[in-house]
Amino acid sequence: MPDSDVSVFKGSLSEPPPVTEVGVARAMEILQSGRLFRYGEEQNKCSEATSLEEEFALFLGVKYCVGVNSCGSAMFIALKAAGLQHEAPVLFNAFTLAPVPGAIAHAGGVPIPVEITPDCLIDFDHLKQQQRKTGAKHLLLSHMRGHIANMDRVVQCCRDLGLTLIEDCDHTMGASWDGRLAGSFGDVACFSTKSFKHVNSGEGGLLVTSDDEVAAKAILYSGSYGMYGQHRACPSLEVIAKHAGQVPNCSMRMSNLVAALIRPQLSELPDRISKWHRSYKILCEHLSKVDGIQITHRDPREGFAPSSLQFLLVDMPRERVPRFVDECRQRGVHIKWFGNRETDGFTERLEHWQYLRAADTCPASHKTLIRLCDLRIPLSLTA
Ligand SMILES: *Cc1c(COP(=O)(O)O)cnc(C)c1O
Repeated sequence: MPDSDVSVFKGSLSEPPPVTEVGVARAMEILQSGRLFRYGEEQNKCSEATSLEEEFALFLGVKYCVGVNSCGSAMFIALKAAGLQHEAPVLFNAFTLAPVPGAIAHAGGVPIPVEITPDCLIDFDHLKQQQRKTGAKHLLLSHMRGHIANMDRVVQCCRDLGLTLIEDCDHTMGASWDGRLAGSFGDVACFSTKSFKHVNSGEGGLLVTSDDEVAAKAILYSGSYGMYGQHRACPSLEVIAKHAGQVPNCSMRMSNLVAALIRPQLSELPDRISKWHRSYKILCEHLSKVDGIQITHRDPREGFAPSSLQFLLVDMPRERVPRFVDECRQRGVHIKWFGNRETDGFTERLEHWQYLRAADTCPASHKTLIRLCDLRIPLSLTA
């Protein structure tokens, strides 16, 4: 136990963002009307999902948006709509979360991990190596915990290697690289609105693209029952009709209820991001003075939206870390560690996904991840 003169943090580090009063009121109206399903049978009398898609496409500066039931679904659909063939390799950065290799497996692909650097960013040399070795045509890039690689280089690299880029933007809603929003670089991008992301609707996902064919197929995969004419952030009906009948309905729709919770939170994003920055700055000031702690480096061009903070334990032996985590917990501070044998609070490594092919290990990423710790920054945190 900590000494009695050691202060204990009484707040909670695991509070999800609030759904806002406006969202609750709108959700109640929808519940009372019964119009939870996004499509109307004859006409659309409630189009929260459609309105959200329009607003989100506009926000990102892309042409199309499709609401779905999770980011995992969005990534599955993105891969299918972007032409992934059965058993084809898909590259992904080794610093990510279970739904990423999960979506690749779901879409029938073979997940191929790519090493990360000690800054938690994709290793470009290894990306090239893995692409040449496997002939992969798709890269599913996670901006994991909000860490954004040099996107100009990513885009150039994908162009050179003939890779379709799918961005996993789960921790980068409203974040940017060199002034341009994350999610606007890739051929497709996927967002989550699960609790603990930047916007909270319990479950939910958004797929964005400016590609007519991908958008048309995504609408059909999401399960539009021939009612795709009720979409608005979509390509022309002729383009969608061309694919109807070819694309299976996978029933992964977003409901109006979920969309109603998301919409008012979008306008709160800038405010949330500045709150996160305020807390992040204070935490950095203090943590950077602690021996043995090294806060993950960030490029000045990264306009990150820090809902969490990552740091490396530079000289603590692995066996000692569980005690450190436990001592923090006794002081009311929930530190998560990516080196844990079991996953704890969304901390995962390749070895937790045993269905991956055994040959695909990433020793450099492993070395970084077993020293990496994670601290959530709830919006309720005060200075
Ligand atoms: C949360 C998360 C996902 C998946 O989101 P779901 O909506 O739960 O499917 C994917 N990638 C990363 C990096 C995440 O943090």
